[in-house]
Amino acid sequence: MPAPRLRSRSLRRIFRKVPGNRVSLQYREKKPKPAKCGNCGAVLKGIPREMPYRMRGIAKTRKRPERPFGGVLCSRCMRQKMIDKARQ
Ligand SMILES: [Zn+2]
Repeated sequence: MPAPRLRSRSLRRIFRKVPGNRVSLQYREKKPKPAKCGNCGAVLKGIPREMPYRMRGIAKTRKRPERPFGGVLCSRCMRQKMIDKARQ
């Protein structure tokens, strides 16, 4: 029986093969869902999947791409928005 703190489903379970042809059960923290584009819903790249308390320790430049609407829109939607704005 695992320790009481490991019986919680707030930790995810990973089955790892270890030497001696055994499988050991390891416990890892869950991660939030990846960030999505506000327009098309595509998964945004360059944004770490970390819990908010971990995101606080990461530098701002490592949390989203450094371009207009970085971390909000995907690059394709950003380009389209720029073109639409320029044509007004
Ligand atoms: Zn998009």
